[in-house]
Amino acid sequence: MRKKIIAGNWKMYKNSAEAVALVEGLKKELGAPNGVEVVVCPPFVNLTEVAKVVAGTHIALGAQNLFWETEGAFTGEISGAMVKATGAEYVIIGHSERRQFFGETNATVNKRLKAALKVGLKPIVCVGENLAEREGGKTFDVVKDHITGSLVDLTKEEMKTLVIAYEPVWAIGTGKTATSAQAQEVHKFIRDLLVKMFDQTTAEATRIQYGGSVKPENAAELMSQPDIDGALVGGASLKADSFAAIIKNTK
Ligand code: PEP
Repeated sequence: MRKKIIAGNWKMYKNSAEAVALVEGLKKELGAPNGVEVVVCPPFVNLTEVAKVVAGTHIALGAQNLFWETEGAFTGEISGAMVKATGAEYVIIGHSERRQFFGETNATVNKRLKAALKVGLKPIVCVGENLAEREGGKTFDVVKDHITGSLVDLTKEEMKTLVIAYEPVWAIGTGKTATSAQAQEVHKFIRDLLVKMFDQTTAEATRIQYGGSVKPENAAELMSQPDIDGALVGGASLKADSFAAIIKNTK
């Protein structure tokens, strides 16, 4: 049985005081755990402050990226060990905004992924097609390329902590959500692909989140699909009430 996981990607929003206020608000709204794993991913500079607020709660902390080298003359970069030292447990890797604006490729996703695993961070690896690719009938080709390219040389053991986020780029921040049938179709495709790449047990144990304009109103329907194991939430995670409502609507 896969435990559902809802992660909030705060992107480049919220300064330190705002981040603390948001997670304090989330704590209040959520109350007792409801069996869903909850993760918040603030900008790097707020990880340490947010870690203090979530300590001892059921809210886990994640970062939005890391660099693959362990240390050195890499101005502006943050290593996996540095992320881990803040108290973070998860790290988002290969978000479409990084692929689109910062030259992220499957090869660099793979390097970050291995660096994350090496320090014991749980990677949330993002994959998904853009609008032109969907309209051109290339969705499955693109998703297959992202998955096979990003997970090169990973062992079944390493797959145990890895989460995949299927995020159709045309649905991110646009208000356009994939229908539950569209999302389920791709999630099933990913799970079948994992059977071929690893084995049945690994595929059945791997959690696959959906991301793309998830809101309180559409969360329950999406999360009820057999191969959707949670959500990666952008916009709606920036308000405690809407993020909490998504979590509460997840069964
Ligand atoms: C995201 O950034 O991963 C995302 C899914 O954003 P939004 O929920 O705003 O579409």
